[in-house]
Amino acid sequence: MKITAIRTAVVQGNFDWILVRIDTDEGLSGFGEAYWGAGVHDILRNAAVTDLVIGCDPADVEPLFCRLKRRLVGAGSVSGTMVTALSGIEIALWDLAGKAAGLPVCRLLGGRFRDRIRIYADCGFHGWDSFEPARQVARAMLDRGFTALKFDIDRPSPDELDPWNRTLSNRELDRIAGLVAAIREEVGPGTDLLVDCHWKYNARDALVLADVLAPFRPRWLEDPVPPGDTEAHRFVTARSPIPICSGENRYLKEEFRDLIAGHGADIIAPDVPKMGGLAEAKKVADLADTYSKAVAPHNVSSPLGTIAACHVMAAVPNCLVLEYHARTIPWWDDLVEGEGVIREGYIGVPDAPGLGVSLREDVARAHLKPGTAWFAP
Ligand code: MG
Repeated sequence: MKITAIRTAVVQGNFDWILVRIDTDEGLSGFGEAYWGAGVHDILRNAAVTDLVIGCDPADVEPLFCRLKRRLVGAGSVSGTMVTALSGIEIALWDLAGKAAGLPVCRLLGGRFRDRIRIYADCGFHGWDSFEPARQVARAMLDRGFTALKFDIDRPSPDELDPWNRTLSNRELDRIAGLVAAIREEVGPGTDLLVDCHWKYNARDALVLADVLAPFRPRWLEDPVPPGDTEAHRFVTARSPIPICSGENRYLKEEFRDLIAGHGADIIAPDVPKMGGLAEAKKVADLADTYSKAVAPHNVSSPLGTIAACHVMAAVPNCLVLEYHARTIPWWDDLVEGEGVIREGYIGVPDAPGLGVSLREDVARAHLKPGTAWFAP
C-alpha cells in the first residue's frame, strides 16, 4: 500500500478542528486531526511536507514520523506549529495502519488496559459578579454524567492589582476561594474538581493559592507557574498540597523530560494532536509511568482527535482522565459514526479497525470553515 495524497478539511467547532485525510493506492483512507494554530493548516498543504510522505507505506508509522520530524523540525530546534501539523499526519497514519491490519489502533500500540476512558468536562469561567452561573454549569455537567469538572480561576477580577506581575492579593485569593468553595458546595464531595491557572503566577504565590484552595480538595492545580520556568515547576510541585498538572504547551517527548524526570509536575497533560501524535504521547506516558505519574491529556479536539487520544489512553497503565472541551457544541457527538460518543462521563474505546470511527460528512460539511474546501489536496 502506498500513500497517494494528504488532504485537509477545517471544521469550525469551538476551535478550528483541522482534519487530515491520507489516501492510498488501494482505496483505503486514514483520518487524523491536528490541534488548531496559526500556520498548521498551511503546513499540511505544503508540498515540502506532503512530498516526503507520498509514495511511502503508511504502516511504517514511526519511521515516517521520524523522517518528517528530522527533515522538517530540524535537529536541535522545535517548531511547535510544525510538530502540530505532523501530529495530524501521524494520527491518520495510525488509522490507516489499523485499517490495513484489521485491528483497533490501541492494539497496535500494545493492547488494551481498559475498554473505556474517563472524561472530564472543561467548564471554563463564568464571571466574578456571581458564582451562580458557575454552579449552574457544574450542575448541568453532573446531570450529563461527568464525575470530574475543570474551572478556570485565573481570569482578571476587580481585585486584580496588576495583570502582569504574577502576584495575588489577599482580596483576589478570597475571591478565588469563594468561587471554588461555591462549586465544591454545588458538586458535593465526590466530584473531582480541577482548577486551571494558565501559567499565571510566580512560584511562591502559586503555593499560597494552593494552600488557600486545599480545603476544597481540588484533584489538581493546572499550570500555576510560567511554562519555561523549570525551577518554579519543581519548587511548587515539591511543596503544593494539591497535585500539580502540566504539559499542554509542550512538544515531542524531549520537552516532557524535565517535567517528568525532574518532578516538575505530578500529573502529565500532553495534548496528543499537538505534541507529536499517538506514539509520541505513548512514550511520554511510559516515561511518566516510570516515575509513577499519571497522565491526563489536554484536549480541545473534535471527536476524531479525542478518539485518537482514547486509543493511547487505553494502551497505557497510567491513564487518569481525558479532557472534553466542547460543552457548548451540541453537534459534537454527531460528527462521527460508530462508537466514541460520551456516555455517563466515559468514551468507549472502539473495537473496529483503525481509530474505529468515521466522519459524518453531512455534519462536518455543515460546519466547514468558510473559505476552505472539503478535503482539498
Ligand atoms: Mg489548561
